Amino acid sequence: MRLETLAIHGGNVVTDSEKPAIQPITLSTTFVHQEDSMIYSRANNPNRAALEGLLAKLEGGEDAAAFSSGNAAGVSVFQALEPGSHLIAPDDMYHGLRNAITQLFAGVLEVTFVDMTNLDEVESAFRSNTRLVWIETPSNPLLKISDIAEIARLAHDKKAMVACDNTFATPVFQNPLRLGADLVMHSSTKYFGGHSDILGGALITKTKNAFWEKIRNVQKVGGAVPSPMDCYYLCRSIKTLPYRMKGHADHAGQLATYLAQHPAVEGVYYPGLIAHPGHHIAAKQMSGFGGILSFLVKDGAEAADRVISKLHYFTNATSLGGVESLIERRAASEGPDTKTPPNLIRVSVGLEHLEDLLEDLDQALKD
Ligand SMILES: *Cc1c(COP(=O)(O)O)cnc(C)c1O
Repeated sequence: MRLETLAIHGGNVVTDSEKPAIQPITLSTTFVHQEDSMIYSRANNPNRAALEGLLAKLEGGEDAAAFSSGNAAGVSVFQALEPGSHLIAPDDMYHGLRNAITQLFAGVLEVTFVDMTNLDEVESAFRSNTRLVWIETPSNPLLKISDIAEIARLAHDKKAMVACDNTFATPVFQNPLRLGADLVMHSSTKYFGGHSDILGGALITKTKNAFWEKIRNVQKVGGAVPSPMDCYYLCRSIKTLPYRMKGHADHAGQLATYLAQHPAVEGVYYPGLIAHPGHHIAAKQMSGFGGILSFLVKDGAEAADRVISKLHYFTNATSLGGVESLIERRAASEGPDTKTPPNLIRVSVGLEHLEDLLEDLDQALKD
């Protein structure tokens, strides 16, 4: 099956004797004891199993595990590492997961934050106890591009695993497992959900190895699992994921080109622009450049806030990946210790009509 077909049919697991065309939602938390039956919904349930099967197929992995949030998915990887392990992570890692490492695993795991776009810096960060390299590409909010295949080669030479946060690209545009990563992580809250109304996360593994069994155990015993309702809605949303992503990337590319020539704009970060420092690697490992862009407004944070306040179709809110356009001055969301430029605006470009989005930006950027 090709991606669009898989997205529609890959998650529909109907076992009922009445043969509904669409898999029903099984809300029961417990199951009648019988051979091979599911036992209890924290360990497994039909809707979660269907979602996990779909996610594994979309990313080309052997298995997938669904979680109650993207952070819960990421934290499960860190929990599965032996205490005392060292990991290498990007210095611009999604701030929620960076906080998880530095706050929840202080004294348990060692971490080195590096510029993942600099392979020499990655290579010199390895220690004898390095077990994991964490990649996030494109990164948040600077859309930096890391070379997944090259980093995987370095890591595997040193017997370390590679996990890639694929939230921004989605499997529509990037398949980290095919590029050499061992694990893929998603915040399903974003493009998988696609409508800003489901919180969820996922991990997908290339092989069902011993480390994956540990992650499965963290999922089952830790219990940060999604509800059957949320799993159902994710399977439903993912049916349109390939077409939504094509629309998001098309609109983002056109907005990036428009912003790049605008006199009130100091710079644009979008990997589809030839001037972007990661464009070459993005073109090699991605089949589309995604729906997120950032730009710098001339005259600082106040000017940026003014632009945001004048917009009609871009909602001033955090998060990304929904059909509606969202915009925020990112430094304000990341707190006082952020390195994000104060005049940086991040846009999750939505699926409204392109001309409406362009006109809206145009009037907001005028004095
Ligand atoms: C949102 C996000 C996360 C965290 O996911 P939640 O669902 O909010 O817990 C992790 N990585 C990236 C890139 C994200 O955008």
